[in-house]
Amino acid sequence: MTHPRYPHLLAPLTLGTGPDALVLRNRVVMGSMHTGLEDRPWDIDRLAAFFTERARGGVGLIITGGYAPTKRGWLKPFASEMTNRLHAARHERITGAVHDAGGAIALQVLHAGRYGYHPLSQGASARKSPITPFRPSAMSSKEVDRTATAFARSVALARKAGYDAAEIMGSEGYLINQFLAARTNDRDDQWGGSPSRRMRFPVEVVRRSRELVGDDFPLVYRISLLDLVEGGQTWEETAELALHLQAAGVTVLNTGIGWHEARVPTIITQVPRGAWRSYTARLKQVVDVPVCASNRINTPELAEDILAAGEADLVSMARPLLADPAFVAKAMDERADEINTCIACNQACLDHVFSNERASCLVNPRACRETELVLMPTLRRRTVAVVGAGPAGLAAATSAAERGFAVTLFERSPRLGGQFRLAMAVPGKEDFADTLRYFMRRLEVLGVDVRLGTTAGPGDLAGFDEVVVATGVEPRIPDIPGIDHPSVASYADVLSGAVVPGRRVAVIGAGGIGVDVSVFLTHQAEDLDDWLAHWGVGDPALHEGGLTEAKPRTPAREVTLVQRKTTPIGIGLGRTSGWAHRAVLRQSHVTLVSGATYDRIDDEGLHLTVDGAARVVAADTIVVCAGQDSVRDLYDGLDRPAHLIGGADLAAELDAERAIRQGTELVAAL
Ligand code: NAP
Ligand code: SF4
Repeated sequence: MTHPRYPHLLAPLTLGTGPDALVLRNRVVMGSMHTGLEDRPWDIDRLAAFFTERARGGVGLIITGGYAPTKRGWLKPFASEMTNRLHAARHERITGAVHDAGGAIALQVLHAGRYGYHPLSQGASARKSPITPFRPSAMSSKEVDRTATAFARSVALARKAGYDAAEIMGSEGYLINQFLAARTNDRDDQWGGSPSRRMRFPVEVVRRSRELVGDDFPLVYRISLLDLVEGGQTWEETAELALHLQAAGVTVLNTGIGWHEARVPTIITQVPRGAWRSYTARLKQVVDVPVCASNRINTPELAEDILAAGEADLVSMARPLLADPAFVAKAMDERADEINTCIACNQACLDHVFSNERASCLVNPRACRETELVLMPTLRRRTVAVVGAGPAGLAAATSAAERGFAVTLFERSPRLGGQFRLAMAVPGKEDFADTLRYFMRRLEVLGVDVRLGTTAGPGDLAGFDEVVVATGVEPRIPDIPGIDHPSVASYADVLSGAVVPGRRVAVIGAGGIGVDVSVFLTHQAEDLDDWLAHWGVGDPALHEGGLTEAKPRTPAREVTLVQRKTTPIGIGLGRTSGWAHRAVLRQSHVTLVSGATYDRIDDEGLHLTVDGAARVVAADTIVVCAGQDSVRDLYDGLDRPAHLIGGADLAAELDAERAIRQGTELVAAL
């Protein structure tokens, strides 16, 4: 039966033919994501639980993180590989569990090439990548040939392990992509030189895989639509490759945007939703096999729209399924307003993985900890008071209600959200509003007694079995002469709109919020075309790799961002997103001043000493982003036991990831 709201997204699709044909129950693909659980055999049951929860949640096809076809293709030392029967046997634990939950799962085969973070890495050439310290060795012709066969063997092992399909990773700048681009392939043997010889490796990988697994087993190939690096492929080459892959036997073309070393953001929150859909639509015009759209698609509405417009046949969402395993089930039940939307922050997923930690999710701390962080239904319906409705309090209140406790949530202000509400005012962080929408809806569905505009005192909390104090933080006021000058405002006043800064602004404090405020102050409204132009994204039919000269930004204000530390500004921002925030500061001509001492503030502006020399930043407004102090008068005044969480517990380096995790973990342990 056709779904009334998402008729395209929730329609089945058959991949392949014959006995191995795979009927997908819908068009939602959970894209490949390395979680860190792939690399160690003892994590296999945790990984199975992670996938099973998504299968139960209705995903059409799950794709695993990348498994190397050879040791030299590892992502890092001793990383995941699928190279022998023992591996295949072990994976039956995953495939069996997913099938029992009604799902389908594909194994991704990925050779890291020069992105391998280890001394054994190999590449199409010996050119080192800018994002790894290791120089790869250039593969000999024989090694290339053997690696193509190794890919095919891994695909065959995937089939043996019970996987329903295999995905060959050909995008994001990994080995196959490296063979395709002149940037990294300067070979003069049969695997390099002309574009058609550069295509030989991926085509051989697919041809040999097809030969080994027979006609019916679905083979997905992830093709790079835009390399976004100099010396990347042209559209003509991409289209030609797609046709060769189709002829060689791929069943589905999944898509990827941008190499990991590209300096254009492709998935983080500042990338407009659906930014890359037109490139998938272009590929769909070229081939007959189903095409899968990906990157920065995080709602069922957008996914449906892409499919309904005929731009793709499937939609891949990776992080959105980390954020909410029941994404599809909720769409199916017309409860999309209950989806815990991925806000594309990368904070707990990719940033963790790139720091060698297990992935999780800022808005869903249970992700990848399904067997460890469990919200068990309570046997005794205790009463719980939560004071403060920022991220920590919201997570605690909803988790407690989910366990079956009777929860009352007190919030002093008339609105929920705390510091998170300020964050969503920052340009490019609009998605953060979805987290608040999710929590508000959860509170409603779970029947939490929400008391807004209520300052809870000890008397209000007397009758509760458990009291959770999440009273948050307040902006720190630094001890600088003249700090009470009328030109001074706090970041909270600026982001909330209570104060509209003048044309010249000095920002005190260059942490995450100082950077965000600088972006807020300089931002001019832009549509998708402007956004692409500001990042230098051009038509790949005209420009190699889809890169052209960036259009300069015209900042709305003159901003000077100041810190006392001598380290480069923005160095402490997220591993996978910080570079993009720093680039926006540069594009917006924000003046960066490190190593400053604050002397005073007066009518002239902000007086500093830098390198022993006094200077003044002439400013109409001075915005203070000097961190926060905990608000805990309530907690300190209580004469009963209570739990303290979030910024009220520890203001230093407070972020929503810690706040939400702490609120959830506390309640799981009650
Ligand atoms: P923060 O990152 O701790 O930065 C506050 C900055 O203020 C410090 O870098 C410090 O720099 C300065 N400062 C501290 N005390 C001061 C004082 N007494 N006088 C003058 N300057 C002082 O805090 P935040 O920017 O408020 O951010 C809060 C949390 O949210 C952080 O964990 C942050 O990572 C997170 N966040 C992250 C992002 C992002 O990653 N994009 C965005 C927003 C928020 P100096 O001592 O060098 O001057
Ligand atoms: Fe999405 Fe952020 Fe969660 Fe990653 S951590 S899945 S980007 S919400």
